[in-house]
Amino acid sequence: METVLLHLHPDFSEELESVIQKWNNAQPHFNFKGIRPPKELETDLLIGGAIQANDTFKIAEQIRKHLRYSQQDGIMIFTEKRIYEGDYYQLYFIGIGNKSSFSLDFTRKFFGQKQFNGEYIFRAILLNILNSLSQKAGIDSHDETRGCILDFCNNMPDIIYGIESGPKFCDSCAKKIKDQGKEYLFDLAKAAMNTKELLEQDKIVSKRVGSYEKVRLQESSTEFDYDIALSFAGEDRKYAEQLAKELIKRDVKVFYDGFEKANLWGKDLYVYLSDLYRLRSKFCVLFLSQYYNSKLWTNHERKAAQSRAYKENKEYILPIRLDNTEIPGILDTTGYLNWQDEGAVNITSYLLQKLNSTSA
Ligand SMILES: [Zn+2]
Repeated sequence: METVLLHLHPDFSEELESVIQKWNNAQPHFNFKGIRPPKELETDLLIGGAIQANDTFKIAEQIRKHLRYSQQDGIMIFTEKRIYEGDYYQLYFIGIGNKSSFSLDFTRKFFGQKQFNGEYIFRAILLNILNSLSQKAGIDSHDETRGCILDFCNNMPDIIYGIESGPKFCDSCAKKIKDQGKEYLFDLAKAAMNTKELLEQDKIVSKRVGSYEKVRLQESSTEFDYDIALSFAGEDRKYAEQLAKELIKRDVKVFYDGFEKANLWGKDLYVYLSDLYRLRSKFCVLFLSQYYNSKLWTNHERKAAQSRAYKENKEYILPIRLDNTEIPGILDTTGYLNWQDEGAVNITSYLLQKLNSTSA
């Protein structure tokens, strides 16, 4: 029998424990075990912000080790943080091998969706575990959304469809399961759908999760770590610094590398900065100049910032021109400000207007 260790999050541990009990009584194939992580490992999960998927797995592994469970045991943890990986800017769930993590930040958004009536957090957990058990049994996932356990969903409406209609298997997956003699997977899906006390308890735990609009230890984790990141060539540092200081005066959270020396020390800068420009700041201000264009470093930053701008389909890059150099990839249609015309004070007030219009 498989064991899956399930993080008893302090906000809903009792409710979750009760739903685990009902699940374990409903079927004989796999067993949930509620665990309380040690405080020093759990705290990071409870603070808002952003985290790479892989770092959540590392924490999960440490928790499992600390509690002296076997590496064969699955483990699933909750975090308040926004989870990101590769091109995915925000994930609600991610599992690799027998480790998986849920973003509560995103899970709460489920409950906020108008078209979503259900309150099924435990069902969502089961769905994802059944997905990994099925894949382990040799049944591949499919890109097409069929409300099937093996759907590969990468947008909200598909995820919601899967949760509301399942967990269940589509005809083609059901046939593969029969062919491979893995019928216990049907029992699991049925237990999830047909056990009345389980469904009722799921509502209770889901209500509890949804009732926390804010994260426990910080305000909303949907907020970015920075309001504005500054990307500039070394030669143009004096302009960036001027703007950074002006922004700080107005309480804007600004990423300017001159303020972050201790934080950056020893980090893999290529990955760190690429994540930062792409994922952790609301806006990115580029200082365009002859130097900016010639620097590989700033080009790397610019590419990261652009890849996000294209994905999100909204203005994210705010260019400031220091001179008239053409910068490849910055479309002529992108509005920009001229440093010479505006200066740090005016630009700061425009940035404040931008920030106010997005937080409304
Ligand atoms: Zn299927």
